[in-house]
Amino acid sequence: MAAKYVFVTGGVVSSLGKGLAAASIGCLLESRGLKVNLMKFDPYLNVDPGTMSPFQHGEVFVTDDGAETDLDLGHYERFTHAKLSRDNNWTTGRIYEQIITKERRGDYLGKTVQVIPHVTNEIKAAMKKVAQDVDVCLVEIGGTVGDIESLPFLEAIRQMRQELGRDNTLFIHVTLVPWIGAAGELKTKPTQHSVKELLSIGIQPDILLCRTDRFLSKELKSKIALFCNVEDEAVITAKDVASIYEVPLVFAREGVDALVLRYLRIDAKQPELARWEELMHRIYNPKDEVHIGIVGKYVEYEDSYKSLKEALVHGAVAHNLKLNLTWVEAEGLESKNGNRDYETQLEGFDGILVPGGFGKRGIEGMLNGIRYARENKVPYFGICLGMQTACIEFARNVCGLDEANSSEFDPATPHRIIYKLRELTGIDELGGTMRLGAWTCKLEPNSQAAKAYGATEISERHRHRYEFNREYEALLTGGGLRITGATPDGTYVEIVELPDHPYFLGCQFHPEFKSKPLEPHPLFSSFVKASYENGRKKRDAKNTEDVEMFLRPERIVRR
Ligand code: GLN
Repeated sequence: MAAKYVFVTGGVVSSLGKGLAAASIGCLLESRGLKVNLMKFDPYLNVDPGTMSPFQHGEVFVTDDGAETDLDLGHYERFTHAKLSRDNNWTTGRIYEQIITKERRGDYLGKTVQVIPHVTNEIKAAMKKVAQDVDVCLVEIGGTVGDIESLPFLEAIRQMRQELGRDNTLFIHVTLVPWIGAAGELKTKPTQHSVKELLSIGIQPDILLCRTDRFLSKELKSKIALFCNVEDEAVITAKDVASIYEVPLVFAREGVDALVLRYLRIDAKQPELARWEELMHRIYNPKDEVHIGIVGKYVEYEDSYKSLKEALVHGAVAHNLKLNLTWVEAEGLESKNGNRDYETQLEGFDGILVPGGFGKRGIEGMLNGIRYARENKVPYFGICLGMQTACIEFARNVCGLDEANSSEFDPATPHRIIYKLRELTGIDELGGTMRLGAWTCKLEPNSQAAKAYGATEISERHRHRYEFNREYEALLTGGGLRITGATPDGTYVEIVELPDHPYFLGCQFHPEFKSKPLEPHPLFSSFVKASYENGRKKRDAKNTEDVEMFLRPERIVRR
């Protein structure tokens, strides 16, 4: 059977959760035994999001093949088993880059190169490429209907329906039905306008996913159906949920997957959602909680650390815990004249995590946070930049190299604990010069890492320029740091640990990209567990002290 396509567009406003909707439908179709793939088109001109600020664009998600992609691909991987690569995310910039290369090479044989058909053909070819060997390919079009930039993509999906017919293509439009407090009413007009906009470019949506904060009544659904030319049952309430992992279940209850199958004329078994239901039960009924502090630089915009946050949630749910996260701006932990005032900001955390980041800002604050965790035996997890800073902290405060640094933050430092191994290659451009994607890592037996993974060879994804400098290995290991993971040829250090500590682990890769709700990542799971145990010990100690004081009040007097 040739693949069938589900196209997901968005209307009215951005951030309605198109990516999550596509991922959840993918999840439901998989649960019915179908093979799916998902892809996203982003209408902006950047070739990829790799050089965009995390404040603007949120996290850059990295796939195994080293593509720097939109964060929606993270949702696709967390909700399905689709194998994603650079083929699954295209920007206008990359489509054009491709076309212009062909044009310069003379491939168009002197023809005028135009949006229709050349750009639209390129877009359609990209869809067909990832749709090979699957039953259903879900294609998300970024941006909002009505944007100038997204027109070529919408035109391409219109042509796909023309080419493949109704039974093989389906249009899902995600729209907003806002509650207007002053009127005490849900309003359908924005949805009507958005569908009109789609109709004007030749696309009649089949299913409307209406984002709303309350259930749509039967009457309201009929009204929307009437004005937008869809069946009553194709108007779906996509109500806000407390956990994103409930979306597939909510959609299933609304009959979205059954509708998709009916429209695409696919016969499939009933969905198997027991594991997702069990997950929701654990998410909504935690036995206790764990409090993690993330000391980072892009903390005011949570989307910058999207996968990280989700991976921590997975780690917490694995132990039936509710995750309490506090985002700490690293700059706020810098000490004035060597005082340790920052410690009060860190006292309440069961575990501390320093995530990835670029540039000098906030580094000194991170070093303080790490020092606090190391000295006070608070579980610490350093990811990428968080591993590099852990090495610098150790070199400075344990090995006495006061000026230890990364050449990223101080190119003139006499002790380049972290340096650009590929400085030797003389490449200095920003784009395309990182160690990216999946690398194999060998683990030392009897390490925290090997214990967590239950394996001695793993593969994890990278996105960084700087590396641990092995010239300092002897000094740092002499001081007690342990190198427990490296690439098989030994060139790159991948994991460092402190054995004399309840949990202190830094990794050069980004484990968060591979964590899924149903398959929590071992490092997140082990870090959360250690943090929880630390928190419980602290609480128990405090309780014992309270009880003792109560039983033997004379001790208070003596104090
Ligand atoms: N800035 C560091 C580097 O380029 C760390 C990158 C990261 O944390 N992703 O190596």
